[in-house]
Amino acid sequence: MSSVLAQPLAFRPPRQAAQPREHGRWSVDAIEALFNLPFPELMHQAQTVHRENFDPTRVEFATLLSVKTGGCAEDCGYCPQAARYDTGVEASKLMEPAEVLAAAQRAQAAGATRFCMGAAWRSPKDRDIEKVAELVRTVKALGLETCATLGMLEDGHAQTLQSAGLDYYNHNLDSAPDFYGDIITTRDYQDRLDTLARVRSAGVKVCCGGIVGMGETRRQRAGLVAELANLTPYPESVPINNLVKVEGTPLANQADLDPFEFVRTIAVALHHHADG
Ligand code: SF4
Repeated sequence: MSSVLAQPLAFRPPRQAAQPREHGRWSVDAIEALFNLPFPELMHQAQTVHRENFDPTRVEFATLLSVKTGGCAEDCGYCPQAARYDTGVEASKLMEPAEVLAAAQRAQAAGATRFCMGAAWRSPKDRDIEKVAELVRTVKALGLETCATLGMLEDGHAQTLQSAGLDYYNHNLDSAPDFYGDIITTRDYQDRLDTLARVRSAGVKVCCGGIVGMGETRRQRAGLVAELANLTPYPESVPINNLVKVEGTPLANQADLDPFEFVRTIAVALHHHADG
């Protein structure tokens, strides 16, 4: 008998998650209690929520195109596009509408229904927003859902993009507030929340998630999920990313996150679709 099977098995009834909401907000304790559920129970709960809110046989395909790569002034510790890290990424100018159109047509032919355009800016200038608005109009004319991720937005930027036909704006919280400063120092958490508020008030749908596997604790993963769960209204898209380690970035040698912990994070985040 293997040493694994020699371990005594203890079957316990599933523990109930802590009261999910306190005073209308998700607490980090409540989210952490979900993380601590036995794995099959967590999967069952997440699947139940998913099936109540989505067609379980349907997967939406999205394509992300970097329309302006590299040369970014920020210091996000995971990002090969930050100019200060030697990652071999060459900085490039904003792509022309014809190039983006060709890429969007290829994405659509491959089955994508949403097309996201990412630009490595700390914060786009007014003239950048006008150029991206043109890209949005180009992609929207194909009948695709449009999404952009351009960094922090100033007043009026989101409105200009919305008028051009932007459906979604991606701006991630990245991590829990008490871990954020370990990863990024050139802008703070409130900057992110301010951009999300501008996007929301312009009538653009919010795509907002984070990255795990950056050295955070489970408690801090729960903290990220709590921040996302307490955004009102809940984001229409919530990307939970596992760190892609890139040579030359500060997180290049970060230890891998246990794959089951990554699955747990997605399962816990799924709970908030129920009342978001
Ligand atoms: S702001 Fe975006 S492009 Fe710039 S370093 Fe951070 S993640 Fe990379």
